[in-house]
Amino acid sequence: MMMGNYKKEEIDKIYLKAISIGGWLSGKTNKKEFYCSECGKNYEEIGERVARAFLKNGTNIGMCNECGRKYIELGVLDGRQGNRDRQELIDKVLYFKKIRNIEDKTWDELSQLLIEVKKENDEYIKRQRLIKESQPNEEDWKIEQYLIDQYNIYQDKKYLTSEYEIKEHFLENGYYLFECGQGYYEEEVVLIAKIGKRFFEVTVYAEIDASWQDRGGRLYWVESIEKVEYVEIDKPIKKEEVYYDYSIKMKESGKELLEEYFKRKNIEFIKGGSNG
Ligand SMILES: [Zn+2]
Repeated sequence: MMMGNYKKEEIDKIYLKAISIGGWLSGKTNKKEFYCSECGKNYEEIGERVARAFLKNGTNIGMCNECGRKYIELGVLDGRQGNRDRQELIDKVLYFKKIRNIEDKTWDELSQLLIEVKKENDEYIKRQRLIKESQPNEEDWKIEQYLIDQYNIYQDKKYLTSEYEIKEHFLENGYYLFECGQGYYEEEVVLIAKIGKRFFEVTVYAEIDASWQDRGGRLYWVESIEKVEYVEIDKPIKKEEVYYDYSIKMKESGKELLEEYFKRKNIEFIKGGSNG
């Protein structure tokens, strides 16, 4: 017996019991439509909802469920099962991550997405565990004054509590480290971060953007933090303090500005005066 009117390659998918006999026949005038297009049995005699096959050429045809099942056994996609599998795959992806317009993704895209979100999730869990395991204790956080005075050490007990937070911390909070403004900018900043009793030299790289001003040249600002690199270092040693004396000769006009600057920078100064 010949299998049917179509090669399985011509059929995209089949939905069994897809439509009621009345629904299938409504508006159809061709007598042929009363009978299975494959085996010729009368739908009313069979008494089951009609199966619908969607062809790859864009049209669809009705057939009885028995004939439809034969195509499915040959390897044609069972539409209902396909939808169930697809929904299952979508649910699996969504379990890990909310994805916009996920309904529009193809099967292959969804499968790839599932691999990616699973990997992302694994990495997240691994990182959370490493952060938890590397938390310093209260004693470790203590900081000697010379580290603050001489090295301007960066320490944030709340948001920088582990080596595994360094990159994200500065990617998110690195903006304010940069000195940018009218006519000046820096593209990278190096600092020493203290996390518990460990020390890291951190380099933060920024992408700088600029615009021309009507007056005064270019205005620069940090467009984004590009990357963060770090390396663990030894505890910085206490430097011998060396003091310098300067004698500055200046007129009344600049005096206030200079003294203000000294005060701001904690520079000691002795004021004197002369006429010559
Ligand atoms: Zn049939």
